[in-house]
Amino acid sequence: MKIATVLRNDDYTREVEQALKDKLASTPCEFVEGPDDHPDMVLSIGGDGTLLEAVHQYGVEPSYVGVHTGHLGFYADWRPEELDEFVQRLQQDRPAIVEYPIVDCRITMRDGAVHRKWALNELVLRNASLSTLVTCVYINGDELETFRGDGLIVSSPSGSTAYNKAVDGAIVHPSIEAIQLSEIASINNQAYRTINSSLVLPKHHEVELIVMNPEIMIGLDREQDIWRDVRSISCRVGQEKVKFARYKRLTFWSRVRNSFIKG
Ligand code: NAP
Ligand code: MN
Repeated sequence: MKIATVLRNDDYTREVEQALKDKLASTPCEFVEGPDDHPDMVLSIGGDGTLLEAVHQYGVEPSYVGVHTGHLGFYADWRPEELDEFVQRLQQDRPAIVEYPIVDCRITMRDGAVHRKWALNELVLRNASLSTLVTCVYINGDELETFRGDGLIVSSPSGSTAYNKAVDGAIVHPSIEAIQLSEIASINNQAYRTINSSLVLPKHHEVELIVMNPEIMIGLDREQDIWRDVRSISCRVGQEKVKFARYKRLTFWSRVRNSFIKG
């Protein structure tokens, strides 16, 4: 089995990687360096943010395993103290593969050019300046509303516990193939009105955000860029999924409890 690692940039994380490499030295596992080496498994060592970086570097081909060197995350199963157990399971067990849906995004420019992007957590749309974002929201071609406010988030199920949760979006189990549209500080008064609730859209439904501002900020997981002259952004559940190799049972709801209620 070919394994690649993606690390958070700190000394402790690098120590954990070295310890893991030492433990796997006498096994058939081979460590490789980058996407061109086509690893079977990518080990993310760090936090949930490190895992996001790993999936954008390696894509949907390999399966992912997370070791957390900070607090227990949503994408990481193993603590550094459990490396021996992990190494043992890696050699003996066939992992359960769980697949998490992604957000598929099509960004259409005013000149007609189209950019395809995707996110494991979410797409975030904000105005590039502090003034109001103005966006017409369409669902499956039907107008829903004109949104005015700070921004909009289109999250995946596994991203629903991240930024989406901070704006009171619902937590969606990753076995549900859906995307969620959530508002960031919408203006609701006598003149302007939005739905003011998060919307959960099933597979094959499409949310289209027609952009009125000349310059916007688009966030895709960790990446964020200022875009000029965007006409619209369309999001739907992606066809492909990100695969996680689960060598131990850790349910999504127990992660929710560990992260938000009791660690
Ligand atoms: P970060 O500032 O370290 O991320 C913020 C927090 O979100 C960290 O505690 C991170 O965990 C956690 N996180 C990431 N993905 C998660 C998930 N799927 N479920 C629950 N928690 C999750 O930045 P980052 O590490 O580069 O992560 C990028 C993500 O930060 C974005 O995708 C966005 O969801 C989130 N974010 C949240 C807010 C907010 O809540 N107001 C604002 C901006 C961005 P780790 O510490 O383990 O990395
Ligand atoms: Mn982080």
